[in-house]
Amino acid sequence: MLHADRLFPADPVTRDVARSLYEETRSLPLVSPHGHCDPGALADDAALGDLALELVTRDHYVLRMLYSQGTRLEALGVRGAGGSPPESDGREVWRLLAEHYHLFRGTPTKLWLDHTLSEVLGVGLPLSAKSADDVYDEAMARLAEPDFRARALYERFGIEFLATTDAATDDLAIHTRLHASGWPGRVVPTFRPDDVIDPERPGFVRRLARLGALTDVDTSGWPGYLDALRARRLDFKAAGATATDHGHPKPATADLSDSEKERLFARVTQYPVDPDDAELFRAQMLTEMAAMSMDDGLVLQLHVGAWRDHNPLVSARFGPDMGADMPKRSDYVGSLKPLLDRFGNEAGLIVVVYTLDETTYSRELAPMAGHYPALRLGPPWWFYDSPEGMRRFYQQVIETAGFANTVGFVDDARSLLTIPARHDVARRVNAAFLAGLVTEHRMEEEEAVEVAHDLAYHLARRAFRTTK
Ligand SMILES: [Zn+2]
Repeated sequence: MLHADRLFPADPVTRDVARSLYEETRSLPLVSPHGHCDPGALADDAALGDLALELVTRDHYVLRMLYSQGTRLEALGVRGAGGSPPESDGREVWRLLAEHYHLFRGTPTKLWLDHTLSEVLGVGLPLSAKSADDVYDEAMARLAEPDFRARALYERFGIEFLATTDAATDDLAIHTRLHASGWPGRVVPTFRPDDVIDPERPGFVRRLARLGALTDVDTSGWPGYLDALRARRLDFKAAGATATDHGHPKPATADLSDSEKERLFARVTQYPVDPDDAELFRAQMLTEMAAMSMDDGLVLQLHVGAWRDHNPLVSARFGPDMGADMPKRSDYVGSLKPLLDRFGNEAGLIVVVYTLDETTYSRELAPMAGHYPALRLGPPWWFYDSPEGMRRFYQQVIETAGFANTVGFVDDARSLLTIPARHDVARRVNAAFLAGLVTEHRMEEEEAVEVAHDLAYHLARRAFRTTK
């Protein structure tokens, strides 16, 4: 069903080089340092849930496209924010996807879904309104087989490292259970403290109390708050974490004096919070996180510059992550300066920046990552985690930052089932880009082979410190 040359250049000379570069990397292990898979399925070695839950209801790429063409989220199995039960069962949700599958022509979502159905689940017919039930039945039968349980999939996919994304106040019980099970797969949490760092998040003060309870530290004052965060980071590290991740609306950073920080903390822990104070606090906290990373070695990831939950009606009814996070213009040169003034020259620190503002790649981020030892460029994210997005990324950053200041591929997957598809698309795009450099005689083929290995495997291992 899938063309062997998909995503390769059309001209035969370059295509031949792309084919051989891809063959070099297609079977390398998968390193997945950032994503949103459910660790519970791996801890319990359970069968994955319903096909439609895995590939539709949990996938905000799919949800947003169907919603944009008039499908109600309730009909796609999404629960209301109040916890109301889904109104459609898996088969009905799947039929809706199948009826509207033409909407995904030309999108990476279709590449991923086609790959997942055909290569992972072994479904032998293309998805359409007519085939919906047959595809559903065939795939569901596979998911019920022991070979399709979470751990078997992890092993079959050749996953070497899988990081989940976890709130700072998560008790890590699932990860602890997973470790204690003796299964050799490497599944680790990532420390995502937005809920206890952003004073504008609902329940911020309540969560600080929970943070205090988890760490046995009084978090009502600035020094205790920092101590509690330090302790939680070490808890995550003990559970295998190698990184933190921060989702801030802007990439602002700050470096205030101790007394200013104490006063600011006192202000943001009392309602109502002034929006400028909240912004300054988030900015200061990125610098604090970099300082803590200097001590504990956790890699600092910034997913900044998204206007989250842009659609108030959808977020009120269904909560976050429904596909309404929009790109915003960002200024990294000015915003990151306070943090870089303190830590930019530290070769022992790794700060990975992801952006939704592509205009900043060649103008700001590539020059910065191509200078500051502490900075690395994360791969294209969200709308740009796509063949064209990756091509544009390479075109805009490599001449300035080189390959070594990037971190390889990050799949950001929502379901274990889609991880191979995402890496396969990336490895094909890498091969196509490198083949162009080879046929223009800008790079020797042996060099391109090394770079292809780096992009598929070694860069992510190094940047996210996955080797123990
Ligand atoms: Zn993510």
